[in-house]
Amino acid sequence: MQFKELNVIPSILKALEKENYTVPTPIQEKAIPCILSGRDLIGCAQTGTGKTAAFAIPTLQLLSEDKASGTVERKIRALIVTPTRELALQIYESFCTYGKYTKLRSCVIFGGVSQKPQEEHLQQGVDILVATPGRLNDLINQKKIDLKFLKIFILDEADRMLDMGFINDIKKIIAKIPVNKQTLLFSATMPADVAKLSNDMLRNPAKIEI
Ligand code: AMP
Repeated sequence: MQFKELNVIPSILKALEKENYTVPTPIQEKAIPCILSGRDLIGCAQTGTGKTAAFAIPTLQLLSEDKASGTVERKIRALIVTPTRELALQIYESFCTYGKYTKLRSCVIFGGVSQKPQEEHLQQGVDILVATPGRLNDLINQKKIDLKFLKIFILDEADRMLDMGFINDIKKIIAKIPVNKQTLLFSATMPADVAKLSNDMLRNPAKIEI
């Protein structure tokens, strides 16, 4: 199996080739077609399985093909929430790498550093936002982030996020995003609290376990 057999568009294939990625990992082989079909998804996968590309590639593709692309002012159409700054930066870099031949723009925000440069980046207009929960809520409350146009919502490392006590932050974020959207939840483990969260958030999700 090769990426092109998964109907990945040429602009993304070119970036993958540059990284010498030709063969999708098992989670990518399963998740990419499912996400491209528009379904909600629960992915049980650890870091190291290629899960970042498994959600980044189809997200970039769906937004590139979205008719709103390039026709209106840029709005945040994909949001990825992840527990730590390190993960947020890694995910952001993946979106930049795989999306470098698309017209999409990504941005990353996290706490513990000055907010100003992040605000300035946001003001330039972004399609994809990678965020940690606290800083995201701060900027939402200050009306510096508008999630009204969101199409794809991704919760990464959900188990770790709940272990770190982010449940209320996640609930606040969910309250600010449209009901009609595609939701993807990734977690290494599926304890009861994560199962409940997925039950509350996802509609008829596909389930992939690696
Ligand atoms: P992740 O599980 O997302 O942290 O990814 C683990 C590592 O695998 C990262 O360093 C990726 O750059 C790399 N990777 C992801 N997908 C592929 C692929 N299809 N072929 C080769 N390497 C990959």
